[in-house]
Amino acid sequence: MRTLEVIVSKGVFLGYNSLSIAFDPLTLPTGKPAVTLVSHAHQDHYSPSVLRKLSQKTHILMSPATRRIIDPARRLKNIIEVNPGETLEVEGLSIEAFHSGHIIGSLQFRVVIGDLTVVYTGDFNLERRIVLQPAKPLKGDVVLIDATYGSPDYVFPERKEIYAKIISILKEREDDEIVLKARRLGVAQEVTALLSMSTHIPVIVESEIAKYNEVYEEFGEILGRYAISNTPKQGFPLVARLSRKFPKKVFTLSLTGWAVKTGVPLSSHGDFRQLVEYVTASEPQVVIPVCGFRKEFSEHVKEMLGITASSDDKINIHL
Ligand SMILES: [Zn+2]
Repeated sequence: MRTLEVIVSKGVFLGYNSLSIAFDPLTLPTGKPAVTLVSHAHQDHYSPSVLRKLSQKTHILMSPATRRIIDPARRLKNIIEVNPGETLEVEGLSIEAFHSGHIIGSLQFRVVIGDLTVVYTGDFNLERRIVLQPAKPLKGDVVLIDATYGSPDYVFPERKEIYAKIISILKEREDDEIVLKARRLGVAQEVTALLSMSTHIPVIVESEIAKYNEVYEEFGEILGRYAISNTPKQGFPLVARLSRKFPKKVFTLSLTGWAVKTGVPLSSHGDFRQLVEYVTASEPQVVIPVCGFRKEFSEHVKEMLGITASSDDKINIHL
């Protein structure tokens, strides 16, 4: 009988015999992890101060694009840059990295620990989009899965339908000042590419977003032509941060999965259907949702897919 301990609290921490692994830690784990894995550069997946401390005593794996965003001055020690498709042997562990299809540089990991295969999806997207390569589901004994949209309330239309809706709204509103509000790292680059490459509508992006556009371009993503300005202008849609406020006369459209019932659910995350697709293809023995609708998705996996699942914060898995 093998026992794998999983702690889901401010990161995901795995223990097996004397080995431990930290995934996207937001707090320092007790003891010294054999390795720390950072899936991507969204701020809810890393903490600069935690990484600084961990880097004194453990190797930290991340993609080159993630490092470019979270450690641009390259001050962190013991960073191992890993690309999709690579396998590394670190402290006796075999770690494979794959595209997760979420934002630039985002990775999912498969780790062989003892004779168990553990998958950590990070935030992922299985759908083909105008930017990035989609993720492919990985097979594993234990799947630690992002369940941001792990409720059946969050089923999104096909990408091409969402794209068509955005373009038709812009055409209807071509005489207005229009702002497309999007998460600054992820959806903002997707909508920049959509407008610049599949329409003749000239697009403006605010400077806070342009700096992330440049990272996409530096790592080979094509976003097309766009201008940089912080001011909306009639006939030139502005891509701006979700948090920014505008005067009432400006027409704003929020692009986020949370707007599934009220607006345009353009998200870098997979929807509920994708989560089910991932688990089904992965054929795991145990599923642990690690963020979002953890309890709801866990119940669904147990009842509808007949697979063991848990949303507890501390889980001992006996396999
Ligand atoms: Zn994310």
